Amino acid sequence: MNSGSNIASNVEEVRKRIAAAAERGGRKAEDVHIIAVTKTMGVDVIKEAVDAGVYDLGENRVQELMEKYDHIGGGCRWHLIGHLQTNKVKYIIDKVSLIHSVDSLELVQEIQKRAEKAGKVMDILIQVNVSGEESKFGISPEQVRDFLLGINGYKNIRVRGLMTVAPFAENPEEIRWVFRDLHKIFIDIKQERIDNIYMDYLSMGMSNDFEVAVEEGANMVRIGTAIFGRRNYT
Ligand SMILES: *Cc1c(COP(=O)(O)O)cnc(C)c1O
Repeated sequence: MNSGSNIASNVEEVRKRIAAAAERGGRKAEDVHIIAVTKTMGVDVIKEAVDAGVYDLGENRVQELMEKYDHIGGGCRWHLIGHLQTNKVKYIIDKVSLIHSVDSLELVQEIQKRAEKAGKVMDILIQVNVSGEESKFGISPEQVRDFLLGINGYKNIRVRGLMTVAPFAENPEEIRWVFRDLHKIFIDIKQERIDNIYMDYLSMGMSNDFEVAVEEGANMVRIGTAIFGRRNYT
């Protein structure tokens, strides 16, 4: 038996914890979007989360997203949350609602090209490597503003906000600063009101640290383990 039978109650629990964290951060629970991260999970299990009312699904690999896409009914929104190679953009351009992991000009140009062909405007987030860990993707905090100024002219791309993956920490208090730093950058850029750059979404927080992230301003959390149980592999 897999962990599927607990999914509805796991979702309920995550919602409660988000609501409490949002309140501590002076915001409303409804302002925080839950992305259920479905990597390694089968279609039946994913459907249980959908039945529990989670319609935003996140995958970090293009191949896996493609395999599941047709089996999950319409009405769900797919999010590409992992590193995206330029040569794979064409496979997902008509399938995803939001790409969280944009971190290079090359990728922006490819998304522009494919989105134009598909006749759509692609919503993206810019991935920022706040902690500076070498193993992490993302542009550096100091470069975010210039990067945005360099990409705000692409007609088929709409920047909707920022995303980060914090380092793993047993105690998420140790990485509170990561979320706080990105929130500050988010607010500063929002206040600048750069043309065609919208700071609507701040995607940060995973199973181990989402409460701290929400307290520090996250309005999109990407949650796998706390909904689906532990993965056998990542
Ligand atoms: C796997 C993954 C998550 C979710 O991780 P959990 O710890 O299982 O909640 C979130 N974001 C990204 C980019 C991921 O790859």
